[in-house]
Amino acid sequence: MTPLHQDDIKNDGAARPRPKLTLDIRTLTFNLLLFALVFAVGMYFVQRSQPGVRGLRWWAAANAVGGIGFMLLSLRGLIPDFISIVVANCMLLTALFCFHEGIARFRRMPNRMPWLGSLLVTILALLLFRYTYILPSIATRIVVMALLTAIPAVMAARLLALDVSPRLRSSYWFTASAFIQFAVVSLARAAYTLLVPPADLMSAGPTHALYFLSIFFLLVVATFGSVWMTTVHLGMELEHQARTDPLTGAMNRLALTESIMRDLSRARRNERPLSLLMFDLDHFKHLNDRFGHQRGDAALVAVAAATRQELRLSDMLARYGGEEFVVILPDTDKANARDTAERLRKRVESLNIDRGDGSVLTASFGVAAFPVDGNDLDSLIARADTALYAAKEAGRNQVMAADTPA
Ligand code: GH3
Ligand code: MG
Ligand code: MG
Repeated sequence: MTPLHQDDIKNDGAARPRPKLTLDIRTLTFNLLLFALVFAVGMYFVQRSQPGVRGLRWWAAANAVGGIGFMLLSLRGLIPDFISIVVANCMLLTALFCFHEGIARFRRMPNRMPWLGSLLVTILALLLFRYTYILPSIATRIVVMALLTAIPAVMAARLLALDVSPRLRSSYWFTASAFIQFAVVSLARAAYTLLVPPADLMSAGPTHALYFLSIFFLLVVATFGSVWMTTVHLGMELEHQARTDPLTGAMNRLALTESIMRDLSRARRNERPLSLLMFDLDHFKHLNDRFGHQRGDAALVAVAAATRQELRLSDMLARYGGEEFVVILPDTDKANARDTAERLRKRVESLNIDRGDGSVLTASFGVAAFPVDGNDLDSLIARADTALYAAKEAGRNQVMAADTPA
């Protein structure tokens, strides 16, 4: 016998009946609908205020379609079976595919099977019709529904779990867990249904209440997860903008400082060289004066793009000033840095950009290397700058290394 709590004993000592804890599916569904519609409207407005973030509208649609589908499901017996069985379950499946599409768009990943959703919803409609009107079987309907909804749920979780950068991992995996738990619960429910066929869905016992809870959980966790993902994404974009030169896409000085601190300490630790190139476009003023600043801007963009193509992934290009750039070459000694600078010099010249003074646009380069020319950013910049100045003095369109000959 279960021990009685103090409160269960009346003054006269007789046991009072315990209140029974029941999970009413219709109440649950009504709450779910309310949540889903609020989420749908909320997500719609988040999307409107953040057009740069993709896919949120699909998440809004998933909430609306899923919430209404669920409400129709719970109205079994009060509305025609066709609506509460066929239409309602098809809406739930559609909602899962909307989530999947939203994730694909959010992550800018191609959806290779855009037809799959329509195909599976059509198959579901036909099967539900068959097992409602021709060969009525609740158990078969539950199994069909579980198998078909597990597909988009697993696809959605897979899209979220693939190739996620460490910064995004928590929010992506949190969201993925919503889809995984749903697939697991609905498949478990199907298995249970095969073992113990229910007579009536609405009074079908705890596995079905669990299934309804699982959908509740799916919508709440997936929606919160999407807001979390959006927040992290926007934060990363802001950080990126704060570190990037908007014209050329090269890093700005803030990013240059941070990056070289990191690279220098690594070079020190591993006793590896590191080189720094500084280059400045020659007589750039002529180009601006002759063709205007827009043509000048276009030339800066072209030079930055060409430079990046010549560099390794581990190298870094930063815009240091107006038409001055700095390149950091980790693991590169002065002789190799000189060669790289020479390659960049030729590349800029070969762009064949008319400078408007009878010559093509060229650049002059200064090279300095750690540890031979300096130990920190300031001394390396100062040495490269002096070398660059010497290159200008010597006639421009050439490479000079600090303390030449290198
Ligand atoms: P030098 O060979 O001695 O470097 O000659 P220069 O004309 O390139 O040097 P100067 O420093 O006198 O002029 C640099 C010019 O770069 C002046 C400025 O108008 C231009 N400039 C700086 N930033 C930008 C920019 O963002 N866009 C454009 N179009 N021009 C810029
Ligand atoms: Mg210049
Ligand atoms: Mg300059």
